[in-house]
Amino acid sequence: MNGKQLRLGIDLGGTSAKVGVVDEHAKVLHAVSVPTSEDFDKAADDMAIAARQAARLAGMEITDFPFAGAGVPSMINPATGRMVFANNTGWHDAPMREALEKRLGIPVKLANDADCALLAEAKAGAAQGFAHALMLTLGTGVGSAMIINGHLFPGGDGMGMEAGHLPLVAGGYPCTCGASGCLEAYVSATGLAAIAREMLAEHPHSALNASNMKLTGRTIFGAAEQGDRAATLIIDRYCEYLAQGIGGLITVFRPQVLVIGGGISHAGPPLFDRLNARVPKYIFAYEQIGGPDMRPAALGNDAGIVGAAFLDQA
Ligand SMILES: [Zn+2]
Repeated sequence: MNGKQLRLGIDLGGTSAKVGVVDEHAKVLHAVSVPTSEDFDKAADDMAIAARQAARLAGMEITDFPFAGAGVPSMINPATGRMVFANNTGWHDAPMREALEKRLGIPVKLANDADCALLAEAKAGAAQGFAHALMLTLGTGVGSAMIINGHLFPGGDGMGMEAGHLPLVAGGYPCTCGASGCLEAYVSATGLAAIAREMLAEHPHSALNASNMKLTGRTIFGAAEQGDRAATLIIDRYCEYLAQGIGGLITVFRPQVLVIGGGISHAGPPLFDRLNARVPKYIFAYEQIGGPDMRPAALGNDAGIVGAAFLDQA
């Protein structure tokens, strides 16, 4: 292995799959990205080809690696290595571990992408040095993961946690899971857009009503920064829902740090200042015992690859 302890991590997303060779300091040395095919076999083929390319860039063969780690946007059945359901691609019960092991010829460790993101943050990012950490990723959906006593929380069946589907509002917005009022339906990027659409009906003069305006975290936080009153009110309401969900999770699980990743976390202080002002009132006995530090994820786009590469330390 070139005398170095190099690792191979695969990060399968809804639009692209990234494969990286990672060093022992959690640094991505070489990475190759391919579009995610909606066809399962084609997607597995493409990931294996990208893995070989990434290995070659590091002057290695796939078989030089003791294992490959892969983070995928789905619950995983650890017994079978199958993706239970990936709503981005519509795959049900997809045998990803078997497909990758067959193509790569080495053992594959498979995990949920949010678990990989938190594992990476614990290894070299915002959750480093904490035995108990909780992470939410606020993207198209809401990912969640938790580290307890230094290890990823597996749940009784090894399928982890899905805090995005925590019931938040009785009879609330419909959720992608089929239920209504889930945390994800309010605090994902999709949820933020839904809150915005509802509130903009009462604010006809907002710049966000422009016909070519896409309602995203970037445009809404951007409009607020430009002084758009409606955008500010939308963000306030969004942060109230998010604070309520976070406060509940903190009260139950008592993490030492709460890491927020995903596209919306890039909003920075306008998001975190509001959360710091609102979350305490949703934490039980906050006055007496306080609450954890809330921080943005530190590793950005590399987190999925890094976490997957360190799945042997999960
Ligand atoms: Zn749901």
